[in-house]
Amino acid sequence: MPSLEIHYQKSLARTGKDYHEIHNWIDEPSKKKERHDLGKILETANMWTERFGAEGAREYLHHLQDDVESRFNHLLEDMQKITQENLAYFGCLTEKQS
Ligand SMILES: [Zn+2]
Repeated sequence: MPSLEIHYQKSLARTGKDYHEIHNWIDEPSKKKERHDLGKILETANMWTERFGAEGAREYLHHLQDDVESRFNHLLEDMQKITQENLAYFGCLTEKQS
């Protein structure tokens, strides 16, 4: 997942503010799992709207989106690598594909 610094930089580029309070809150090590719970998006987005307006809620959603993309892209890369290795192991790749 992106580091806090990357989250800050992305918010800064989008809004002119780094929204470190939001990113630090989400990635608080002892509560990281519950704060990335997609089932709590509405109530958590409302909390950030009250504090920072709609822009803050959007930055909270961008943080989750960036984390989801990062995790699934990593998974896809691993799957592609393992698939290629298995195909090569069983001689199913041509010279061009390997
Ligand atoms: Zn995160």
